[in-house]
Amino acid sequence: METRVRFAPSPTGALHIGGGHTALFNWLWARRTGGKFVLRIEDTDRERSTQEYEETIMSGMRWLGLDWDEGPDLGGPYGPYRQSSRLDLYWENAEKLAAEGHAYKDGNAVIFKVLPNVELSFDDVVYGRIETKSDGLRDRESGDLKDIVLLKGDGMPTYNYAVVVDDHFMKITHVIRGEDHISNTPKQLLIYKALGWEPPLFAHLPMILGKDKKKLSKRHGATSVYEFRDMGYMPDSVFNFLANLGWSAGEDKEIFDREEAAELFELSRVTRKPAVFDPDKLNFINQEHLKRLDPTTRLGLIKPFWKEAGLPVEEYDDAYLAEALTLMGGRGQTAKELAAFSDYYVSFEPVKERWKPEGVSPVGVTEELRPKLKDFFSVLLAEPHWAAEALETRARAWVEEKGVKMKDYAMTLRYALTGMKVSPGIFEVATLLGRDEVKRRLEFYDLV
Ligand code: GLU
Repeated sequence: METRVRFAPSPTGALHIGGGHTALFNWLWARRTGGKFVLRIEDTDRERSTQEYEETIMSGMRWLGLDWDEGPDLGGPYGPYRQSSRLDLYWENAEKLAAEGHAYKDGNAVIFKVLPNVELSFDDVVYGRIETKSDGLRDRESGDLKDIVLLKGDGMPTYNYAVVVDDHFMKITHVIRGEDHISNTPKQLLIYKALGWEPPLFAHLPMILGKDKKKLSKRHGATSVYEFRDMGYMPDSVFNFLANLGWSAGEDKEIFDREEAAELFELSRVTRKPAVFDPDKLNFINQEHLKRLDPTTRLGLIKPFWKEAGLPVEEYDDAYLAEALTLMGGRGQTAKELAAFSDYYVSFEPVKERWKPEGVSPVGVTEELRPKLKDFFSVLLAEPHWAAEALETRARAWVEEKGVKMKDYAMTLRYALTGMKVSPGIFEVATLLGRDEVKRRLEFYDLV
């Protein structure tokens, strides 16, 4: 039998980390088993549901690379895929339940009658055997069994009812969702039983906690998928990071792409232990993915952040900019950080702001040192072969002859060209910037 899973967001907010995580695990299971991934929009809360949120959720999923096979935009054999367009189905089945004595009417509302002693245990793919009976659905205060509203007075179905009707008619085989829904499962099983339908398998996913072990919320910083994009995280990294929450691709396999994950994924290996959202881990994973990008893709990723910082990116050709980023090696944990670390290739302005040689901080140029620096830089600028190795050889010869330390001179060159304490090999940076630009920067600082 073909695996059919679904992600069923309510369009009442952006795609958050928790939702993205659920969508991703459904996607992984569909791709792993060669089944279908269905997107169903649970928009029965008419007040809070909006078309805009629906679109944000979909574009957030697309950004993460979670493509679906059936959904409100694509259609499919078991549509419609928005609950608000499936009302007839909910009404028909509520009528059926009422006719068979499982439910009663209260005005326009239809309410499911919960009887005592109904066996509702189930084997959760992740959490194992969960023993429950309908008696677990008693009101804490009165001790009475609490009936379940199926249709509200306005004709809208409740979540616990609509989800059963939809999962049944959409032929869902595995319900993969957050563990906060474990407590809803017995109610849903009761409705399956009354309708005489075979329930799907349930696989609940562990909760995601902040580093303080509290449920992930706004207090922990960014929580919507788009905030991560805007901070310069790549979709590949966010995907990789989310997949590692509650699942592991293997002992030494922390970094992987979608295809690898889809090959290795096992629903039964998802852990019950709450997963901790660790921003340092995300940074690490992002840096690993950033390192692996080919130069062109990398440039495409960094450019918008240079532009955002007001740098004149258009004045340079792509080959030069891509080479600059290649020179940056594995530096920078996010695109934004890499863009900031490499701004001096695109403009001298930020360098001027960062480094003022008049002061002592971080490296000052004393009037005693200035003539020596001028001599050193003039020799470098006179090097006929403008290449890192030749420049370095020339610099070494000069410092040896003068009996001074290379570090002091190279450091000043680094500050004058980059305004930073750390950078790639400074002769390589100088080579790429070109003789004219190096000269211009040194002249500005009165160092030639
Ligand atoms: N609309 C529900 C939610 O977003 C779906 C839960 C489910 O997957 O059953 O929580």
